[in-house]
Amino acid sequence: MRAFVQIDLSAIAENIAEVRSRIDSTVLAVVKADAYGHGLIPVARTAIESGATWLGVALLEEAISLRDAGIEAPLLAWLTPPHEDFERALQLNIDLSVSSIELFEEILGCAGRLGIKPRLHFEVDTGMRRGGVLGEWTEFLQYALDNRERYSLVGLWSHFARADEPDSDFSSIQEESFHQKLVELNGAGLRPEIVHLSNSAAALTRQSAHLSMVRLGIAMYGLSPDVKEMGGASTFNLRPAMSIKAQLHLVKDAKAGDAVGYGGAEVLTHDTKLGVVAMGYSDGLPRSASNKVGVAFDGQRAALVGRISMDQCVVNLGPDSRAQAGDFVTVMGSEGYSIDEWAAAAQTINYEIVTRIASRVPRIYQLK
Ligand SMILES: *Cc1c(COP(=O)(O)O)cnc(C)c1O
Repeated sequence: MRAFVQIDLSAIAENIAEVRSRIDSTVLAVVKADAYGHGLIPVARTAIESGATWLGVALLEEAISLRDAGIEAPLLAWLTPPHEDFERALQLNIDLSVSSIELFEEILGCAGRLGIKPRLHFEVDTGMRRGGVLGEWTEFLQYALDNRERYSLVGLWSHFARADEPDSDFSSIQEESFHQKLVELNGAGLRPEIVHLSNSAAALTRQSAHLSMVRLGIAMYGLSPDVKEMGGASTFNLRPAMSIKAQLHLVKDAKAGDAVGYGGAEVLTHDTKLGVVAMGYSDGLPRSASNKVGVAFDGQRAALVGRISMDQCVVNLGPDSRAQAGDFVTVMGSEGYSIDEWAAAAQTINYEIVTRIASRVPRIYQLK
């Protein structure tokens, strides 16, 4: 196996336990995007075994995969455009989110034909201007009332735009707007079983927003929602679950003055040993991190030299390295460059680094 992603499921279990020890609310484990690249089914099972009560995904396909794997936990899919396979969703007891009368009508129509009462969560836009009911709220509320017998109102929810900036007032404004919507809903006699507003950042820093449930994503994977604004994962006693290893395809001597890789983008200043690592940008390593990070071997860091290629990259092992072709190096995580260092090098966020690791890189699970 020339490269693999190692997932420490006990880290995920401990991270959930850590967050649960700080909050009183139920935890919904967010496992969209193949559990942030960590693997949908193993992570979902671990999350449920570790005290998460709910699972949440963006896509209906993701929810269906969970049910097909025999996972029966309460499950919410929140990104379903019109004309999805709602029949399947309802038959599999998947909770759906509605942000418009149009979608509400379609789901009720489908449910009516099947004779199933759909379990719905109303999403309200409290400031992010992404999903959620906004200008249509009054009509939406009326529609919800008029059709009260045709669905179960499970949740009212919204999403923070700036919870990773704990000093920003914007989250308080969103919270206020959320409570206003809840009051109006209750005033109309509609009482959701649960209300949920917090992502990881709010779960970690904003107690007033925990409500009945928090939707825990990045923190469960042991990463900080915003390293600059909130500090790294260790600030919250969280441990990254993902690390990446790859084999050295070749080790060879090169001379000072040699230009390495496409474009000859980097010229060696000393004689050294180069290691050709069997992993590249098609595997999800960001090409924009070329020259800025590297790998670790035998407790030593070895910097990337030249540009990352599609399937491989080259590192400077140093003239005295004992590394040999076939040895594994740590590309990311554990004793290597951290996911956060890769993210900074590529001028992006840790979320993007972990979710972009390609499916052709196998995931190997570890339960310490
Ligand atoms: C992705 C997502 C989350 C989780 O966000 P984190 O910052 O990873 O905790 C929560 N809620 C919704 C609606 C999401 O799309």
